[in-house]
Amino acid sequence: MRIAFLGLGHMGLPMAKNLAAAGHDVVGFDVFPAAVDTALDAGLAVTLSAQAAVDGADVVITMFQSGAQVIAAYRGAGGDGLVDVAPPGTLFIDCSTISVEEAQEAHRIAEIAGHRSLDAPVSGGVVGAENATLAFMVGGSDVDFESARPILEAMGRRVVHCGGAGLGQAAKVCNNMILAVSQIAVAEAFVLGERLGLTHQALFDVASNASGQCWALTTNCPVPGPVPTSPANRDYQPGFAGALMNKDLGLAEQAIASTGVDARMGMLAREIYKEFADGAGAGQDFSGIINTIREDA
Ligand code: NAD
Repeated sequence: MRIAFLGLGHMGLPMAKNLAAAGHDVVGFDVFPAAVDTALDAGLAVTLSAQAAVDGADVVITMFQSGAQVIAAYRGAGGDGLVDVAPPGTLFIDCSTISVEEAQEAHRIAEIAGHRSLDAPVSGGVVGAENATLAFMVGGSDVDFESARPILEAMGRRVVHCGGAGLGQAAKVCNNMILAVSQIAVAEAFVLGERLGLTHQALFDVASNASGQCWALTTNCPVPGPVPTSPANRDYQPGFAGALMNKDLGLAEQAIASTGVDARMGMLAREIYKEFADGAGAGQDFSGIINTIREDA
């Protein structure tokens, strides 16, 4: 399988390397020249343009920062878009985290040009990308999903078909909204417990075995001690940075606005993480929100 991998950043480069290690013929490209140099140093085959990578490819994978970048690259400017250059019937897989509407637009652009298309955002972060343990949430047709499955399995451990076009992004946005709300709730509970005289360990021992149990508590515990691998034990080095949580909640806000859902907890989490990321929290793990809550108490 010849795979063009575009976007060789924090996530894209290790993902592309895992595909090459699995025996695929991978050619990479990034608009940022330093990313191309790093990829070359890492032993990945690269091209001088996106068009050269896509020419002759069976599959085109994009891993960009934003939906605007994905749509601009697919469309191009006058005949040089990825969908213009790719051979007919190429499978486009966009792994970037973008809005549901942007994902559906990318599907439309690819399909009108005679290609096949999936949205396949990931969770698992850079460590998951490096270790090929990412979770993929996939939107698109059954047939396209089955063609993509072995490719995605070379980069991840869990691959879930969530439904039609855009529904991979829908699953991602809903999951991360749960995560944001629960991380804030766990942080508030620890600060409240402190004020009431509870030790962190006592609250952890009770809640982790009771109905308060959740990932934000038992894996990403926001206080040092009870879960030695959580970011709180390393001064809140990410993990999952506040800036990325803020970006994902911006996508949740768009989805809430477009559907009219009364998601007050989600919107409050959006506001809280926006403040966090606009301040010192952008580069910290998002569990560092506990420090803001404690300072404000
Ligand atoms: P990044 O900024 O490190 O990498 C993105 C790369 O895409 C950059 O090198 C950029 O130059 C390149 N790019 C942009 N437009 C391009 C184009 N037209 N052609 C070729 N290259 C282009 O970002 P990242 O951390 O790798 O994240 C990528 C995506 O994955 C984002 O949507 C992010 O929200 C999502 N994500 C990131 C993480 C994480 O922990 N970093 C976790 C889950 C999901």
